[in-house]
Amino acid sequence: MICIGCHLSVTKGYEAMGKTMLSFGGNTFAWFTRNPRGGKSKPIIPEDAARLNTLIKENSFGPLVAHGSYTMNLCSANEETRNNGLEMLKQDMERMELVPGHYYNFHPGSHTGLGTEKGIELIAEGLNAVLRPEMNTIVLLETMAGKGSEVGKSFEELQRIIDRVTYKDKLGVCFDTCHVWDAGYDIVNNLDCVLTQFDKIIGLNRLKAVHFNDSKNDCGSHKDRHEKLGKGMIGIEALKQIALHPVMEKLPFILETPNDDEGYISEIRTVNEWFC
Ligand code: FE
Ligand code: FE
Ligand code: ZN
Repeated sequence: MICIGCHLSVTKGYEAMGKTMLSFGGNTFAWFTRNPRGGKSKPIIPEDAARLNTLIKENSFGPLVAHGSYTMNLCSANEETRNNGLEMLKQDMERMELVPGHYYNFHPGSHTGLGTEKGIELIAEGLNAVLRPEMNTIVLLETMAGKGSEVGKSFEELQRIIDRVTYKDKLGVCFDTCHVWDAGYDIVNNLDCVLTQFDKIIGLNRLKAVHFNDSKNDCGSHKDRHEKLGKGMIGIEALKQIALHPVMEKLPFILETPNDDEGYISEIRTVNEWFC
């Protein structure tokens, strides 16, 4: 069985997200741990988180994939932005302990002029300041499209971050199909080759989750504009190949497609049908 779900709003609380996903026909989901653009976070009610933990256990959900704020930038040229990012990451890790045993995905960062090398250094430094061996969360670096000065647009860049992190067992990678494609990896014509590269450079053991999106733009465009499944340049056949690929088996698939509830329900149904 595939593990499929979509990004949900946290405004009604944690248990509510679990109930929503059940009604959507999925068995995993993503949410922003705080306002994705503003960075402020409202406190989690521990009882609410505990009810979600029970709900997902009773309904055999796969791992959940929380998403860090877009404003969190561990490698900004601006020191204040960097420190804010570090503070967000620290708080988010504490909050994740209320839903232990899941994933926390974030955008490695944008170096805003410092250069990729320095960016990699700062991201690893930030992770080393926060990751602890007793944490119950695995932190995922998201593969990026390479828009602006984004770090993490190649498997090599991601691995260079991982290389510098002390507690490597707390790290994984989230494979965003739109981003990987926009970064220049041809997952339509050369999926096996791309996954072999991933394995050689990072190792498939680090592949923990998939952001399952079509792309509005062509391979190598570095644009990062998500599209509904089958409505973009990746196309439904290639997306199906990805979902059915043996190395993707059992990974949580998170839809971040431009959809309303009905659209998500329909895409979750489509993906579930591939596995019937
Ligand atoms: Fe993302
Ligand atoms: Fe994504
Ligand atoms: Zn994106």
